[in-house]
Amino acid sequence: MNVLVVSDAVSPLVYDEAIRERFPDVELVFSCGDLPYDYLEFIVTALNVPLLYVHGNHDRPLMTDGIDLTAPRGCINAHRRVVEAQGLLIGGIEGSPRYRPGSPFQYTNWEVRGHILRMCPRLLANRLLKGRALDVLLTHTPPRGIHDHSDPAHQGFPALCSFIRRFRPRYLIHGHTYPRRGMAGRSTYLGTQIVQVQGHALVELEPWDPDGEG
Ligand SMILES: [Zn+2]
Repeated sequence: MNVLVVSDAVSPLVYDEAIRERFPDVELVFSCGDLPYDYLEFIVTALNVPLLYVHGNHDRPLMTDGIDLTAPRGCINAHRRVVEAQGLLIGGIEGSPRYRPGSPFQYTNWEVRGHILRMCPRLLANRLLKGRALDVLLTHTPPRGIHDHSDPAHQGFPALCSFIRRFRPRYLIHGHTYPRRGMAGRSTYLGTQIVQVQGHALVELEPWDPDGEG
């Protein structure tokens, strides 16, 4: 299944009237945060497929047509939830590490553990009823030690490593950090494919295979 992933920077190839011709086979859109809400609304309107998102640390309300937009309209916020879309089970964790007190969408590792705790009943029920906890975890920040940087704002969350160990999503897709020189922005950790996106990327996700590992 082809998924268009956007994150962190508006991509001129996406924010373009030819978007439908350029991405004809996209069945889902993911946003990993730090993007203007009207950009996401343009994408969901033009492609007319589900768009799931998490907020990034730079997301702020947008004043448009006299309305104070606090979230993109017509899109699905995946934060602390597990949502089923196009046959995939998709969860989300928003935000970055806390580096400025009082700012929105910034969390300590303990707070991220709290978010995960909120998702646990649904994850465990999915494992029992659907054979796996989830297929994709959408995050803004990467797991600690994978695609992250050493400065406080761009360190990964250790809680996301624990999440992978416990729930084994097939994919974790994130933004927030930039690929290092010579690195493709793709890693594997305990069988989970970690995909880093800046701007936009077309990502092909394997459908759920009940006979595979889960
Ligand atoms: Zn960010």
